[in-house]
Amino acid sequence: MNEFSQISKNFSSSEGKDLKLKALNGFKDILPGETELWRQVEDRARDVFARFNFAEIRLPILEKTELFARSIGETTDIVEKEMYTFIDKQITLRPEATASLLRAYIEHGLYVQKPVQRLFTVGPMFRHERPQQGRLRQFHQMDAEVLGSANPRVDAELMTMGSMLLAELGLNVSLELNSLGCPACRPAFRESLLSFLGSRQDALCEDCKRRSVTNPLRVLDCKNPNCRAIVADAPSIQEHLCPECATHFQAVQDGLDQLGIVYSLNKFMVRGLDYYCRTTFEFITADLGSQSAVCAGGRYDGLVEQLGGPKAPGIGFAMGMERLVLLLLQKEQKIEPPAEIDIFIAGLGGDASRLAFSLMQGLRKAGARVTMDLDARSLKSQMKQADKAGARHVLMIGEEELAKKAGMLRNMATQEQREIPFGDEGLRMLLEATAAGR
Ligand code: ATP
Ligand code: MG
Repeated sequence: MNEFSQISKNFSSSEGKDLKLKALNGFKDILPGETELWRQVEDRARDVFARFNFAEIRLPILEKTELFARSIGETTDIVEKEMYTFIDKQITLRPEATASLLRAYIEHGLYVQKPVQRLFTVGPMFRHERPQQGRLRQFHQMDAEVLGSANPRVDAELMTMGSMLLAELGLNVSLELNSLGCPACRPAFRESLLSFLGSRQDALCEDCKRRSVTNPLRVLDCKNPNCRAIVADAPSIQEHLCPECATHFQAVQDGLDQLGIVYSLNKFMVRGLDYYCRTTFEFITADLGSQSAVCAGGRYDGLVEQLGGPKAPGIGFAMGMERLVLLLLQKEQKIEPPAEIDIFIAGLGGDASRLAFSLMQGLRKAGARVTMDLDARSLKSQMKQADKAGARHVLMIGEEELAKKAGMLRNMATQEQREIPFGDEGLRMLLEATAAGR
């Protein structure tokens, strides 16, 4: 007996009777009602991305583990402890989209087709973290990346796109900006940070004691209040930028100013992925506790090359959809009801129900949204169902209607009723009523 049949045997055995199958911790169903809100968020994003000339790319959910280790960085939280990896196969459920997108960009030579590629992708990501509100193990991101340009205006434009989308969703967020410098200026900053941390080791939290050796920049964004108080006086990366990075950083700010995007500088924001250089940014909300970042991103100029591709600088952001939806729910944003039904056909009895079944198909083929009760319950029950479905019309077919060869169409808003003959003429009248109601 294999493992699976053992599990299912246990489940169906008597002691397993009370055992309810539930989704895994941190994995969530998105139910009808809420899916409408998700679609509104995604539709709005697609609309804004299109205005900024981004094209969609769809990527696999599984990748070689090596891709993430090489791009995100061996000593990051994600790679050290958050990845879902099938150890025997050396493959990993993607924890983020940038690495996969770059892999596809290189694999398909997308840089040959266009000097600058603007791409977006939407989908689930997987990280083994402690689930809480706004933090799941399967979560969803809308990810946008620009590859092939180091122009600081691209940075400003990308942040503007994020800002516009969040504003059009009606969300109140603030933009925080930093520059992490480049391989030319970061080592000197790292040294000065290390010597600052060196004398304060004892006061740091355990994680930061370890980080000050493996990844000292991460100490700057530790959430521990003690560590925060200590690093408040730490040297600022913004004051250690080489002339090229300083010019770039200034030009990014000029671009944002020109486009009217408000931001504040945050020298503590270092981001949890190794591949960032120069511009990093986060859109922050005050309404989700410690899950305050709704969108985060930055520049990663050496990464394409590091993954075996051409010299192509890049910048991108990822927006967390769960957090956007939570914010919209908090605002009691009116959720659009699901697509309304044009006609509910209430067939009473076997013959009427049979007729209704083919009429429904004719109407659906012609583009109408139609439903019926296939079990042909009582008229009262069917009227209730029509109401629940938000049906604009109910077409009643009972014995009398069968004899007359005409159904009775009721407009649910006005309660007006009129006869609709069976056959092509009736179908035309029904479609007319449908179109008029929309
Ligand atoms: P955090 O600091 O909240 O852990 P992060 O820096 O790990 O975020 P990124 O890797 O930059 O997050 O991902 C971009 C965005 O994706 C985040 O700003 C957030 O909105 C969302 N996100 C990240 N991890 C999760 C998660 N486990 N559940 C839900 N959303 C998430
Ligand atoms: Mg995280």
